[in-house]
Amino acid sequence: TSLSPATVEVLDRIEHLFQLSNDRLIDITRQFVEDYNLGLGEYNKAMAMIPTFVTGVPDGSEKGTFLALDLGGTNLRVCEVTLHGDKTFTLRQQKYKVSEELKTGEATRLFDYLADSVDAFLTEMGHEVTDVEALHLGLTFSFPVEQSALDKGVLLTWTKGFAARNAIGKDVVKLLQDAFDRKHLHVRCCALVNDTVGALLSRAYTSGGCFLGAIFGTGTNGAYVEDISKIKKLGDSTSLLGMSKMVVNTEWGAFNNSRSVLPSTPFDNKLDRESINPRFQAYEKFISGMYLGEITRNLLLNLVDASPPILFNGNSTPILNSHYGFDTAYMSDVENASNLDEVQKVIVERVGFKPEDVSLDDAKIVKWACHLVAARAAKLSGCAVASVLIQTGLAKLGGGSSSGDERFSVGVDGSLIQHYPNFEDGLRASLRVLVGSDVESRVDIGLAKDGSGVGAALCALQAVKQE
Ligand code: ADP
Repeated sequence: TSLSPATVEVLDRIEHLFQLSNDRLIDITRQFVEDYNLGLGEYNKAMAMIPTFVTGVPDGSEKGTFLALDLGGTNLRVCEVTLHGDKTFTLRQQKYKVSEELKTGEATRLFDYLADSVDAFLTEMGHEVTDVEALHLGLTFSFPVEQSALDKGVLLTWTKGFAARNAIGKDVVKLLQDAFDRKHLHVRCCALVNDTVGALLSRAYTSGGCFLGAIFGTGTNGAYVEDISKIKKLGDSTSLLGMSKMVVNTEWGAFNNSRSVLPSTPFDNKLDRESINPRFQAYEKFISGMYLGEITRNLLLNLVDASPPILFNGNSTPILNSHYGFDTAYMSDVENASNLDEVQKVIVERVGFKPEDVSLDDAKIVKWACHLVAARAAKLSGCAVASVLIQTGLAKLGGGSSSGDERFSVGVDGSLIQHYPNFEDGLRASLRVLVGSDVESRVDIGLAKDGSGVGAALCALQAVKQE
């Protein structure tokens, strides 16, 4: 195929909007580090930097059997995790549906349902719940929580379609424990964990250490190991005497909510204006699975509407016309296609065009658009990872002489990093710019398998040890 010079000119202009120079990447990363420190210093900053009260990471020698409950995704999951003490674990799990009614009804009903699910799980697994020893449970709760102890945290706000009444401002561990107690279940919730912390802990357990847990899925977030002395907002908490490190949940999806460093295009601005939370989660809107498809849709429709039309002969489909209709998974399919004929098929199947309405030129342009949006996301993801390497003193911005052969382990989870073609390559290319190729080559990015279950179990273990 050969695109007309006029088309090429339009596409070049758009491509230019999506470019990220090395200088820009460096500015963004510098801003990240500044925002981390602002958030470590005071509460209620753009970057929440939530102290988790997890004061160490596992090394793989941990042992024991724990229950884990995971609320925050589409399903509620209950698992039993056995840590064997040799970096391996076994896990048995069951998923339960959370109805819309439960999500938006009275909070006690939701928590009763959580307790019922644990009860059902234990029965199914053949547990004697009347044992004298209470079973210890870690709760993975992926909503913004201000934590004050390993087993205490107040819900700040619901997200992701949850809106249960009378929960905000309350301690979620207590809400759950009260529900267990109402049912006389011999289960004790002793730890509260965010999914990013779970990714960090579980990766540390299976690989013998880890400095960062990061999610690149529906949303994006990261948790890392910080010096307690740098978490100024904790004050001189006596309960932390003798401890030197604490895992911090950055909530980095909120980076740059004031919109000064991120390179917004008109397609990003449209997404933001039409979102349920304009100006919030600014960084997440450039990076994560929930949004990349929508940015791409905005771009494609711009080309459909151009005069003369540049795409699909000026036609669209109900899928392409609907808000969030173009899923990020379609972009994966487009980029995975090995030739333009295949891209054409993906467009027909996913976007609902008739085969005769999609030319090879159209396929070429759609592929180009998907790549543009995803490559920018991958590069920007590198800024978050680099900023943590810099914040923790493992690397210097711009690279420079670093020595040694220490390896830096990152535990990741989420469909984007797992499935999007070349996402990790893009992230690494940006890391090379930001911290140099020596450090980049020593960063091990690995999947935090069953991160929320294993992470919650590890956290419960730490809680039991501290008792
Ligand atoms: P969660 O973050 O909710 O735990 P996932 O990690 O599965 O769940 O992320 C879901 C997001 O990933 C959705 O926004 C979806 O559009 C996107 N997604 C699903 N499959 C793919 C894929 N193959 N490639 C890229 N993105 C995907």
